[in-house]
Amino acid sequence: MTAPAAASGRVLATLNEDGSRRWIRPKPSPGKWLIRRRAVAYALIALFLAIPHLRMNGKPWMLLDLPHRQFTFFGTTFLPTDTLLLMLLFVSALIGIFLLTALFGRVWCGWGCPQTVWMEFIFRPIERLVEGGFNASRALDRDRKHFAPRRLLKYAIYALLSLTLGNTFLAYFVGTDTLWVWVLSSPFDHLTGFLVMAVTATAVFLDFTWFREQTCLVACPYGRWQSALLDRQSLIVAYDSARGEPRGHGTGARTGLGDCIACNACVQTCPTGIDIRDGLQMECIHCTQCSDACDEIMVKVGKPVGLIRYSSKDALVGNPPRILRARTVLYPLAFTLFFGGFLFALATRSPADVTLLGGQGAPFTQEADGQVVNQVRIKVANRTGDDHLYTITYLDAEGARLIAPENPVRVPAAGNITTTVFVVQAADRFVNGERLVRFRLSDGGTFTREFGWRLLGPQK
Ligand code: SF4
Ligand code: SF4
Repeated sequence: MTAPAAASGRVLATLNEDGSRRWIRPKPSPGKWLIRRRAVAYALIALFLAIPHLRMNGKPWMLLDLPHRQFTFFGTTFLPTDTLLLMLLFVSALIGIFLLTALFGRVWCGWGCPQTVWMEFIFRPIERLVEGGFNASRALDRDRKHFAPRRLLKYAIYALLSLTLGNTFLAYFVGTDTLWVWVLSSPFDHLTGFLVMAVTATAVFLDFTWFREQTCLVACPYGRWQSALLDRQSLIVAYDSARGEPRGHGTGARTGLGDCIACNACVQTCPTGIDIRDGLQMECIHCTQCSDACDEIMVKVGKPVGLIRYSSKDALVGNPPRILRARTVLYPLAFTLFFGGFLFALATRSPADVTLLGGQGAPFTQEADGQVVNQVRIKVANRTGDDHLYTITYLDAEGARLIAPENPVRVPAAGNITTTVFVVQAADRFVNGERLVRFRLSDGGTFTREFGWRLLGPQK
């Protein structure tokens, strides 16, 4: 069998010509953007680790309590009945991302995405520290020493970090109190939670050891959307080809050459391995590392910085900026509509949901003395963060009796209870076999509501 022909030239930035993986070991480029990105990254990392421990109104800042189908966000708990609220919030966030991208390009990818933040500011610095720097890492790759002692030490540190991230991730779903109990007990006492943590930690480990930039290039849909979300006015990290080309080596007399000295520093520093001089590419996460690298070179060769800079496609060809574009008008309008709807729904949200349901079995029963008994089930969902006692009152009490085994009924914070009451009254109070009545539920404080219900009885 003949071997497949090798590709002529590089097909992908992360593939060698023989089809093997080309490991990207970006050379660090100190500069003004790196300082700013580092500050943002460490603040985000600290926030991510701290959020499960922070409390507001006695509740975690964020808790995605899936078993109880409750979502706590900055002291407010959303229940399954808040689907509309959550939908409005989700759509608002989606439109916010569209708007952010239209205005500032992939600023999220370069500055805020956990993949970039953890990879570039935690995992890669550890790699350089343990393996002996950028050149030493490349030498290990060249010699295919995947299990050299330094690399094994790096994997061990990565494994510890992955376990930390796996546990932190789990804390977002079960809370830190439960997590501590679980950490101090046998995994078999909470097997599901343990498996969630183990799978997450394994995924994190594989992501930062093996997949790395492939997560951005292959798995993340956001990079694919950018061609639809960006326009010619969107902010991008761009190479000024009008100034840089024709590129050429040498720093002396450069007759007929642009400012690019073809040093490749911008390529060596790129975490996705691309050459920004080829134009805007899906692989570019707009991390600005090439901008810092090129600025350093420009200073050395005595040229103005900014050959690679934040710009836009229009700005690069000299077109003036246009703030008012279809996307910068429509996205804010849509965002205001949905987020305004969310805020309105949140502000007018009732502190409790009450649902009346008919009794199970026969629609009514009649006692020996002819009195008619209707069974009514009352479901109360407490949306507040405190336990509440709800008193049920039957408002059509004349000649009727309310039998309520639990009254008032206690409903725990963010919980719900279904209680059953019985209404007993004379058969002659029904007209055409039914009677419209009202119940009142009150917690003695902010919540008092009346609810209509149709009782059934014998036809006259
Ligand atoms: S770093 Fe600047 S000068 Fe060097 S190759 Fe890249 S664009 Fe050209
Ligand atoms: S081309 Fe520049 S901005 Fe884009 S990913 Fe590479 S280094 Fe970052």
